[in-house]
Amino acid sequence: MIAFERVTKRFGSWTAVNDVSLTVGEGEFLVLIGSSGSGKSTLLRMMNRLIVPESGSIRVEGTDIAALRPEELRRRMGYVIQSVGLFPHWTVERNIATVPVLLGWPKARVRDRVTELLELLNLDPRRFRSAYPHQLSGGQQQRVGVARALAAEPRVLLMDEPFSALDPITRGALQGELAAIHRDTGTTVVFVTHDMDEALTLADRIAVMDHGRLVQTATPLEILTHPAGDVVRDLVGREDWGLKRLSVETVGQRARPEPTIPGAPFPSAAPLHRALSEMVARGTDRLPVMDEGGRPAGVLHLADLVRGPATSP
Ligand code: ADP
Ligand code: MG
Repeated sequence: MIAFERVTKRFGSWTAVNDVSLTVGEGEFLVLIGSSGSGKSTLLRMMNRLIVPESGSIRVEGTDIAALRPEELRRRMGYVIQSVGLFPHWTVERNIATVPVLLGWPKARVRDRVTELLELLNLDPRRFRSAYPHQLSGGQQQRVGVARALAAEPRVLLMDEPFSALDPITRGALQGELAAIHRDTGTTVVFVTHDMDEALTLADRIAVMDHGRLVQTATPLEILTHPAGDVVRDLVGREDWGLKRLSVETVGQRARPEPTIPGAPFPSAAPLHRALSEMVARGTDRLPVMDEGGRPAGVLHLADLVRGPATSP
């Protein structure tokens, strides 16, 4: 879907992105992580030509984006930033409809799409369609920002620390909604964060940046168990390493294929750290597991959590 080949961007004598090659697969959820100033936003903004590189090539669906008109490219890519950037004098509906209106969609289609998106982002259309941005909480505004980016069904969603300014509860809710949207629509997502927990929760693959360079691109499990150096190790941190390790694997991956046992069944798609918490809460060392259809899917044993395949580096 997106391919960077030896891309470099300088601001004066400062090299913000240094010789980066990276591919993002169709439907992939890629998280760019790194400390402040490492070049994440610059890399992201080169994908929709808000920034043009000095050297190297960037292709989107096989086409070198230097050959595309920036407006055309941006309509194919949703873009969400931390400070939402909603138009204050426009209603929620008008804000969400920005790109469909530009594209000349018929009124009825725009209206239906806005309703669909408000519902998708858990905003009651009757209450929010005609509201103005200042009447919304930060979390609601950010939901509208995500809805606006998705409005014209972009092939790619670019997100630059979209949830960083939100409180932890709202942030968790929006992470869950974004993960569901990604699963249901198959949209390719490139998501910037400086928070490793957020990266581990959301990513199919994590790309770690340091001083403009890409230092590791790997799955969450690989990042945790085989960090490519001190920069990655520091981003992961030592604190709660074991819980992080449990957060990147699901209950279904460790459940034993045994006849089910009494008790409320636990979803096989849930991350293992949640199952551990549930065991503590229930005062038990075994949980019956069910699949997405609610059918029995074996039993999870506490012993299998601590006897996982990979240990701390
Ligand atoms: P990040 O998003 O990882 O925090 P950025 O990509 O925003 O980092 O910035 C990378 C580096 O490039 C920083 O040192 C920043 O100061 C510099 N930089 C970014 N944009 C500009 C600009 N327009 N002019 C000059 N320097 C810039
Ligand atoms: Mg940034």
